[in-house]
Amino acid sequence: MHRLVLIAFYLQITLSNMAQSYCIVIHGGAGNITPENTPDEQLYIKALDSALFIGEEILNKGGNSIDAVEKVIRFLEDCHLFNAGKGAVLTEKGKVELDASIMNGENLMAGAVAGVTNIKNPITAARFVMEKTSHVLLVREGASAFAKAQGLEIVSNDYFITKESKEKYLKYKYKEKDNKGTVGCVALDIHGNLAAGTSTGGMMMKKYGRVGDSPIIGAGTYANNKTCAVSCTGHGEYFIRNSIAFHIHALIIYKNLNLPEATKFVIDSVLTPQKGTGGIIAVDKFGNYAWHFNTQGMFRGVVNSKGEKRIELYK
Ligand code: ASP
Repeated sequence: MHRLVLIAFYLQITLSNMAQSYCIVIHGGAGNITPENTPDEQLYIKALDSALFIGEEILNKGGNSIDAVEKVIRFLEDCHLFNAGKGAVLTEKGKVELDASIMNGENLMAGAVAGVTNIKNPITAARFVMEKTSHVLLVREGASAFAKAQGLEIVSNDYFITKESKEKYLKYKYKEKDNKGTVGCVALDIHGNLAAGTSTGGMMMKKYGRVGDSPIIGAGTYANNKTCAVSCTGHGEYFIRNSIAFHIHALIIYKNLNLPEATKFVIDSVLTPQKGTGGIIAVDKFGNYAWHFNTQGMFRGVVNSKGEKRIELYK
């Protein structure tokens, strides 16, 4: 009897410790990111650090993972350095078309918007789709009308276009490489809930109406409390064709792989043989995190309740 009480006490302590851990991981895109072509390295480090700070403040106070993911991505959308919201890359027509999605691992609810041209923060519109409609994905004018009706901030397409993105667009016509990236965030909160979100301007010079993996649940974004939360970046068509984010969940739940094994498998054994390029960030239900990419670099960072904090840019 005495022994049973001790075991129960031990279990309670262990479970409460487990529940109290949090972890937040972010990315700012994967690509041709090397020290040589990142002269503004310090600006990126500072932006990633501020994003982690926003997320950690929420999680540390017992806030939920969905709030952390949305707020962090909003910050990255407003930051001109990344390919999301302000500063997003231009389409072949020289406009900005944005995609975003968010998923709640607690109840498997998800929301997304695609091809939007005037919603200041597409990630918030995605969250509204998730929480205020019975749908998962709204596109183009339908998404804008919904966002407007919900009181979200609407801007002109010019708001997103920076001097730098216009210059890059002109150069890209002559095949200059760009290293701007999509943004993403995954988080585990102290209540044991996972969430994931991704926001992007898509691929530079994309066709009018092209939609990538970022707003596709299971391709660019996935979260499930049974396993993990995932956000992807890279050549979206490959991520869609291989259901990359869900693929990681499936490897964990059906094949018993751990998080680093699953993320490594989808990059090295699924994407790379097909010549698909990109990267992944993920966190599992235990608070373990993983990132993996087959490009030169990926803007990324993590902070967790164990006191660990890392920001990295290159291989
Ligand atoms: N995955 C995004 C897309 O294909 C682009 C990126 O992550 O850089 O739209």
